Amino acid sequence: MNWITRWKKIGIKVKQIFKKQPIGQEATDWKNCPQCKKISYKPDLFDNSYICECSFHFDLPPKLRLDYLFDSTYEIIEAPENIDPDPLNFEVKDGAREGYKYINKIKKYRKVTGQQTALMCASGSISNLNAVVVCFNPKFGAGRFGPAENEHFLKAANIAIQKKVDIWIVVYQSSGIDVHTGVTGLAGMTKSIIAMNEIKKNNIPTFCVAARATAGGTYASSFFMHDFIIIESKCVENLLFSGKRVTANILKGTDQIPDDFGTAPGIMKSGLADITLENRKELKDTITKLANIILKKEETKTTEEAYENPEDFKKTASTAS
Ligand SMILES: [Zn+2]
Repeated sequence: MNWITRWKKIGIKVKQIFKKQPIGQEATDWKNCPQCKKISYKPDLFDNSYICECSFHFDLPPKLRLDYLFDSTYEIIEAPENIDPDPLNFEVKDGAREGYKYINKIKKYRKVTGQQTALMCASGSISNLNAVVVCFNPKFGAGRFGPAENEHFLKAANIAIQKKVDIWIVVYQSSGIDVHTGVTGLAGMTKSIIAMNEIKKNNIPTFCVAARATAGGTYASSFFMHDFIIIESKCVENLLFSGKRVTANILKGTDQIPDDFGTAPGIMKSGLADITLENRKELKDTITKLANIILKKEETKTTEEAYENPEDFKKTASTAS
């Protein structure tokens, strides 16, 4: 290694240090909307389900998502223990990224999110229906699906079957299979498909919620196996196997790629999803209505409520007596 190569390496390392996000950036109380550029106060956004005035949907932390969906308390389904998230001990031994160890990234994701995997899973009651919900966390490595996530998904599916729940919901926000984990990660595609099949064999209605971007192996496996595919808002984009840049490389140009490629309107036009909601506040009601139709459960009405005009009820009641 001559002195020019050494200086180049030092330059790259300095750049990497400056690229790192400043500490405490997440502690701010303000959020900048990428659509209308307005800066909003976080507590106000919280009251509005993290939706900007212009209707842009910010990422909703999984904990808040579960709080909104479940009726009251719910039980967290913890990740299985002793699953190696980095079976290849992935590290870079030379070149610009020399010294990079994937396990350090996992440790960082765990520290930032407080989760052991990119999934937050829970069981409880949604509009009096027993449910298991699996929720991807984009802050955990963009919701990548690796060996630990595979096993967590299977554990949640097993609990749904054992408890004979009424509904199974997966909220997707995933960049795809974790490429650092090789075949072990890819096996997650098969495993999640088998899990979905077992859930369906047990006649449990399944709901896929596309919360933002979902791509790669996650998009190409369990995503389309649900009975209903609900797009959470019109802001959802990047629902696709490979992004525009990769697809353009394969097609030798962008001419054949439509403008709405992978967007909510584009997916609806292709017939790949069932419904796009105006906003995420409609999600719980929509799932409840669809589930009640499939399960043939009607909302319990008292005899008096069944009459549109209360006077009619009184007349009928007096005649009957
Ligand atoms: Zn906005």
